[in-house]
Amino acid sequence: MADVRDLYQEVIFEHNKNPRNFGVLENPNRFATGHNPLCGDQLTVYLIVDDDGTVSDVKFEGSGCAISVASASLMTQMIKGKPQEEVEHIFQAFHDVCMKERDVEETPELEKLAVLAGVRDFPSRVKCATLAWHTIHAALERGEQGTEVTTE
Ligand code: ZN
Repeated sequence: MADVRDLYQEVIFEHNKNPRNFGVLENPNRFATGHNPLCGDQLTVYLIVDDDGTVSDVKFEGSGCAISVASASLMTQMIKGKPQEEVEHIFQAFHDVCMKERDVEETPELEKLAVLAGVRDFPSRVKCATLAWHTIHAALERGEQGTEVTTE
């Protein structure tokens, strides 16, 4: 069985090198920019949320460390086509795992995202891994005209 740390590095390396859903989305109806001043990561997440609350399209752009970019890439892959409430639910689960409030075994909904749970042992990298999620949360909550969020 492959070491978890190897898998973690492989997934991050691959998604950072070739991020999915990268670019500007034309005519988004929600968007937000997130800043992580501690590391210098900056990401903008664009969404199209349908009338029934489904996130039908999502893209992101920006620049940052490998963890922030890989996390955003995995996030966009995972949430496309999902209802808004489910996106918030996954965000909460990921947040809890990164903050060590729950274990990966308790959050099967994280699926592939679980490989990023390794950051929980490196508190300074948690903000890199959760930046995309804080950004999408802000976009969903108040991003009709665009909004910004900064990790503290
Ligand atoms: Zn970072």
